[in-house]
Amino acid sequence: MKTEAKVTPEQMRTVMEILAATYRGRGAVELGEPYRVLVSTVISQRTREEQTAAVSRRVLAHYPDVASLAVADEQALLGLLAGSEYREAKAPRLVAMAKILLEKYGGRIPDDIDALLALPGIGRKTANCVLIYAFNREAICVDTHLHKIANRLGWVTTKTPEQTEKALKILMPRDLWAGSNRLFLQHGRAVCLSGAPPLCSRCPVRPWCVYGQEPTARKR
Ligand code: SF4
Repeated sequence: MKTEAKVTPEQMRTVMEILAATYRGRGAVELGEPYRVLVSTVISQRTREEQTAAVSRRVLAHYPDVASLAVADEQALLGLLAGSEYREAKAPRLVAMAKILLEKYGGRIPDDIDALLALPGIGRKTANCVLIYAFNREAICVDTHLHKIANRLGWVTTKTPEQTEKALKILMPRDLWAGSNRLFLQHGRAVCLSGAPPLCSRCPVRPWCVYGQEPTARKR
């Protein structure tokens, strides 16, 4: 992992301001109730946003709090999770997670990264998202979009989202951390695609992008 990126905090701010204007402020952090944020974030793992919203509504209607999820029937939960990827793994993990939350925290969701990471099925991306969207904490939630785009922009040279998180925490002004996930998610879906070449000719931040300046890079 290299962190000696040539990007300056001012350039990062410029890029993110342009993205915020392009996606009409969709980088704004909207806070939610911690239990709902936690369950929705687990459901969102490797799952499209539209599916996540529908499945989360269904699951949370049946299990509105930690106590009800802790005694959930796993087969019933599995059915409610239809549409969420890897639901066979998520169903038992959600129940196990709720049991721990009940026994260890009295049903409260901890606002501590280590405590969250100790829960079943919770990795750094999920834990950081919960810290941001449930507790308004300074954290960077690095998903595949943020990881890929930060590398294309030349902000970092990293191989994993974990390395990207670590590098961005050194480089990025703290007030930009929380909003970065939503902004790059929007940009990754609309322009800086993951499963196809990025649409650099339509990109509003191309002048600041290392990949976008490469003549031999695949662009369309
Ligand atoms: S110029 Fe291309 S690679 Fe760079 S951020 Fe824009 S779409 Fe992504």
